[in-house]
Amino acid sequence: MLEQQRQLESRVQERTLELRLGIARLERHNKQIADLHEFTEMLQLCTTLAESIPVIEAFFPRLFPGTTAMLFLMDAQTGLLMPFVHSAGFGFALQACWALREGKPYVHAAEGGRPRCAHLENQAGADSLCLPVMAGGEVHGLIQVLGREVIGDEFQRHANNVAEHLALAIATLKLQVRLREQSIRDPLTGLYNRRYLDEVAPRELQTAARQGQPLGLAMFDIDHFKRFNDEHGHDTGDEVLRQLTRFVATRLRASDLAFRIGGEEFLLLLPQSNIEDTLAKMERLRQQVAQDLHVGHGHLRLAVTISAGVASFAVHGKSLDDLLKAADAAMYQAKAAGRNRVELAAALPPVAVDQG
Ligand code: GH3
Ligand code: MG
Ligand code: MG
Repeated sequence: MLEQQRQLESRVQERTLELRLGIARLERHNKQIADLHEFTEMLQLCTTLAESIPVIEAFFPRLFPGTTAMLFLMDAQTGLLMPFVHSAGFGFALQACWALREGKPYVHAAEGGRPRCAHLENQAGADSLCLPVMAGGEVHGLIQVLGREVIGDEFQRHANNVAEHLALAIATLKLQVRLREQSIRDPLTGLYNRRYLDEVAPRELQTAARQGQPLGLAMFDIDHFKRFNDEHGHDTGDEVLRQLTRFVATRLRASDLAFRIGGEEFLLLLPQSNIEDTLAKMERLRQQVAQDLHVGHGHLRLAVTISAGVASFAVHGKSLDDLLKAADAAMYQAKAAGRNRVELAAALPPVAVDQG
């Protein structure tokens, strides 16, 4: 009788323990799902990959507790996986990771009988889990997790879930960035388009006004451009546009903005550049184009000249419209005066002082 009771008590204890473990597992699971949900929601609020850096930095320790987790992103140009968050560390080729070779997660137990990934050769003694970050058949990156925890099935399932969500978020973000780039750039020359000018100019004007800084505008137009088309065909005309653009773009500062605002009409926005600097810069560009640019197309070597008009905030206006009008009028003067010239916009008439 006593023996039966003891057995019963021990069964009850066992069941209680199982239940407690089950509850703890469920709680962990719930927290993982809640964290992952919050993580993906915040990723969706990012509009560039750079914006997602602090999100990933903040969430990785929560999503992979007790481990060291690191994200690598595929660099399309070099084909290397580069550390995303930490500037330290080196990139590696896809072949250096068994997970990326296989296209599925790869666990390496320190004392197990499987080979270690080459990119982990400095991590001898650590257990590791590599998770490909893949969506739509494309490798976007890799999550590398180091620590004892990675050996558990439950951890691996959760980690895999994170990798899948992250892959979708990154693919979406990249697509958004690409669409945005397409919407603000001219496909022929790669310069910003008129639409982006309307978007960015108010910002630049406001910054200049707030900081009391100058802002230069230089509008230029290719001289007798129609002749290139008429004499050599539209393709040659396009090539002139492309090569002129490249020529000019390599002579700008990083903060300068270049737009194609019409067929063969361009605009430079030069933050912090005063009238003299803007005029000097445009004059230098005009000379360089006339002297050094020879557009090659097939057997052709074509000389190109441009005419330009320069205006300055707030000397010639405070709004984009007024400044464009001033620069356009100056450019028209340059054309009328014989082309291959730069003209400065006329000063605004003095503001009438109310005597009443
Ligand atoms: P001006 O010196 O007065 O500026 O003379 P122009 O011939 O350059 O000016 P006009 O405005 O008469 O001609 C511009 C031409 O540019 C007309 C148009 O067919 C051509 N054009 C506009 N966009 C493109 C383009 O994307 N590619 C090519 N090839 N031609 C274009
Ligand atoms: Mg022209
Ligand atoms: Mg024109």
